[in-house]
Amino acid sequence: MAKRLPMFMFGILCVRCQHEIIAPHETELLDDKVIRHLWHCPNCKARFESFPRFPKNAKSVREVMMSVDVFPPLNGT
Ligand SMILES: [Zn+2]
Repeated sequence: MAKRLPMFMFGILCVRCQHEIIAPHETELLDDKVIRHLWHCPNCKARFESFPRFPKNAKSVREVMMSVDVFPPLNGT
């Protein structure tokens, strides 16, 4: 009966190869409201970051997830 939900709480799709990454490589708390997740794709080695926001009026995890900003792969050396 249990059907896998398309939404996942912490995972993300790789911005380069769409590989599903289950958990962030690193998470930093920038301030009270801003969290930065650093992702490292094991498939294509891409690194990128996302900034989930937690609006005060968010009623559900779904709303929070819909407001996630995802940035392109980092090119830094
Ligand atoms: Zn990837």
